Amino acid sequence: MSAPALLDRSITDLAGALSRREVSSEEVTRAALARIEATDERLHAFLRVVPERAIASARGSDARRARGEVRSPLDGIPIGLKDIFLTKGVETTCGSRILAGFVPPFDATVVERLETSGAVVMGKLNMDEFAMGSSNENSAFGPCRNPWDLERTPGGSSGGSAASVAARQVFGALGTDTGGSIRQPASLCGVVGLKPTYGRVSRYGVVAFASSLDQVGPIARTVTDAAAMLGVIAGHDPRDQTSSLLPVPDYRAGIEEGARGLRIGVPREWLQGGSEAGVERRVREALAAYEAMGATLVDVELPHSRYGVAAYYLVAPAEASSNLARYDGVRFGLRAPARSLADMYGETRDQGFGAEPKRRIMLGTYALSAGYYDAYYLRAQKVRTLVRRDFDRAFERCDLVAGPVSPTVAFRLGEKVDDPLQMYLADVFTISCNLAALPGLSVPAGLHPESRLPVGLQLVGRPFDEATLLRAARALEREMGPSPAPEAIG
Ligand code: GLN
Repeated sequence: MSAPALLDRSITDLAGALSRREVSSEEVTRAALARIEATDERLHAFLRVVPERAIASARGSDARRARGEVRSPLDGIPIGLKDIFLTKGVETTCGSRILAGFVPPFDATVVERLETSGAVVMGKLNMDEFAMGSSNENSAFGPCRNPWDLERTPGGSSGGSAASVAARQVFGALGTDTGGSIRQPASLCGVVGLKPTYGRVSRYGVVAFASSLDQVGPIARTVTDAAAMLGVIAGHDPRDQTSSLLPVPDYRAGIEEGARGLRIGVPREWLQGGSEAGVERRVREALAAYEAMGATLVDVELPHSRYGVAAYYLVAPAEASSNLARYDGVRFGLRAPARSLADMYGETRDQGFGAEPKRRIMLGTYALSAGYYDAYYLRAQKVRTLVRRDFDRAFERCDLVAGPVSPTVAFRLGEKVDDPLQMYLADVFTISCNLAALPGLSVPAGLHPESRLPVGLQLVGRPFDEATLLRAARALEREMGPSPAPEAIG
């Protein structure tokens, strides 16, 4: 049974239907709430649904529309938020027990921007604890499942966001991507995910994981929807010094221009048998499709990308160990009863953090400790520079780079939980884009020939050139036709 037709529509389509008054935002919102109610016991994409807040903003949108006021293409459209974004008055846990009960006193800038643009916030979506993970199994509240096969992972860490969008519970969602956490779940759930350039979107009010890598981005069912969402959330924010002053272009403007004339770099390192055969086949077919559409394929080299995972697992844990130091039972969430202050810190952190954050805190503290800083953190930072130079060199000869997102399709829950290194390798193709601070996108490239599970194509662009990625992704989407809805969730 396929999802109801209303919920199957794209944001762009629905915005049209809303302005023609074929449907109201309240009707759409109620349909989405009913869909969540009917499916989420099995899917577990949501940690918290906010029906009252949603209905209230839907009514607000309908009232404005009745007066002829439309604030953005997202006005009146149900959207989900990864539980990493602070939401005023709504518990925000970041997938961790240590933040259970934490109710933020303010909204993240991106949440504020969504709501100001009229979007209807539906609730907070499941994620790996502190965005550490690739399967959602590190969520302290139990994993979200993949709507294509409920025994499989939706990917992570923004797994709840991707699963919810794919399952037609919401029309789009925000995620964050530090090493692949938007692109990998988007790929595994058959939807579009965009990690913008570092600095393109404000991170004010976003729980920090690895501050030199974290970036916020949209997950949607179509490329144009992702472009519309990016247009709303991007832009300078005086409250985030890392946010760029560059003006935000209209991301939908050139999106239909097609792939003709684009030079697409194909990194040799990304197509050397490092992916399962069915994934590599779909990626190669997508590249051939681009050639048929008039793009030119160019061989490029990213020789240092093979050190990406190693460098990332020094930089990210080092920064995480510092960012997570603030959770000590004093200001946020959980506080364990104890006899002394020192015991309270220790007990709270012991009870509050799961195994993965503890592992990263230890790794990161070690990598930053006196005597090891130069050998590990500093060395890893130098590798980042080399990774970035590889891309700079590649972009002298091409406009964007293409390859797989994930080496495999969605894997089974439980398959990798006991082997952190295997789990880390899920991001082998996505991490270098974060290390180099570049924009990266995952677009559906068809289903795996045997398992019939989604495969994503990754496109990586020049700094702040999200527009070219969107244009190229849209060309492929048009060629392939609309991606099918997952059937396992019913
Ligand atoms: N899977 C990677 C990790 O565990 C990336 C996570 C992310 O992008 N937030 O760190």
